[in-house]
Amino acid sequence: MRTEDFIRLEETYGAHNYHPLDVVLSEGKGVWVWDVEGNRYLDCLSAYSALNQGHRHPRIVDVMIAQAQKLTLTSRAFRNDQLPLLEKELCELSGHDMMLPMNTGAEAVETALKAARLWGYQVKGIPANQAEIIVCDHNFHGRTISIITFSTEPLYRDGFGPFTPGFKVIPFGDAGALEKAITPHTAAFMVEPIQGEAGVIVPPEGYLREVREICDRHTVLMIADEIQSGLGRAGKLFACDWENVQPDMITIGKALSGGMLPVSAVVGTREVLGLFKPGSHGSTFGGSPMACAVAREALNVIVDENLPQRAHELGAYFVEQLWEINSPYVKEVRGKGLLIGVELNDEGGDARPFCEALRERGILAKETHRNVIRFAPPLIITQEELDWALVHIREVLRS
Ligand SMILES: *Cc1c(COP(=O)(O)O)cnc(C)c1O
Repeated sequence: MRTEDFIRLEETYGAHNYHPLDVVLSEGKGVWVWDVEGNRYLDCLSAYSALNQGHRHPRIVDVMIAQAQKLTLTSRAFRNDQLPLLEKELCELSGHDMMLPMNTGAEAVETALKAARLWGYQVKGIPANQAEIIVCDHNFHGRTISIITFSTEPLYRDGFGPFTPGFKVIPFGDAGALEKAITPHTAAFMVEPIQGEAGVIVPPEGYLREVREICDRHTVLMIADEIQSGLGRAGKLFACDWENVQPDMITIGKALSGGMLPVSAVVGTREVLGLFKPGSHGSTFGGSPMACAVAREALNVIVDENLPQRAHELGAYFVEQLWEINSPYVKEVRGKGLLIGVELNDEGGDARPFCEALRERGILAKETHRNVIRFAPPLIITQEELDWALVHIREVLRS
């Protein structure tokens, strides 16, 4: 079967909830992927940062195969010998007290929201069913009905109501707006330290520190959604580390499994995560020995290969080189670490044709927010590979 055959099947039998580039991939290794025609591409999306360790990292593959031959799933009705070790290791790495394992990012976000409400009622003393949670405009936290309730993107919401009460939206990057929005019923403020899906929006310097301080002063929980910005992507283990801020809860996902299977988690304080009681929350696959063994090795790779520092150094170089292209179509290059957005100006127009042109030259990047090209290669990329990419990016951004 050829590319057109796969596309025809997918268009016929698959719901059209995505608009992928028309490349059908069948193999990947490190930063590279191959399509069914045998063409090679540099992966500059990393599955929305789920592949920070690269495709099929040999150490993670070995652990996954070994675990598949031992024990894959117990459910939480029984204990297994991997979950406790992941819990300890992730807590030590993040400096938190406790963790709760789930599968997808959206589930980790839902878990954090539930935990915040529990804390609001049981610790802060908010009257029953009155808890409010504040979020930012242009956020992306996932696709469940409660999460799209507070999305400001019409495409994500239209046709999916009625929605969930209890959320309030304020401008991103504006600490004053947070202070104004807080009421005695506010349980938590949830924020992405860098807004990825919104087009790689970096808040003003000091924002996260101010948020932490405001949350402390009003006894409001700070939840950082680091599902995309965390695990090295932004040049630190967590993007909040740039401002030495410790949130009350962090949601983690995507690269937590090195791209092998959906693994997510919430880490947080004992005061909050300690409130869950047996039966109050759960997931059949969350915390499976398979997920935990893979996540443990995925974390080891991030630490052993110094991926946050790599992302920081190579990201700074990449941003500088992208600016130097001096393209007439580019308004701004921004980002942290290897989470980089190139925003096009009016002359540049839509990002999609640029992504198509990059694909022609063997680079897979995806537009985000219509006029932004996101570059987020695996953090194991070498400078030589970046330089190769820059040659092609230069030609596409200049033609
Ligand atoms: C991808 C993402 C999510 C949702 O993760 P899923 O695994 O797709 O449910 C939530 N928050 C952020 C910041 C993300 O980038």
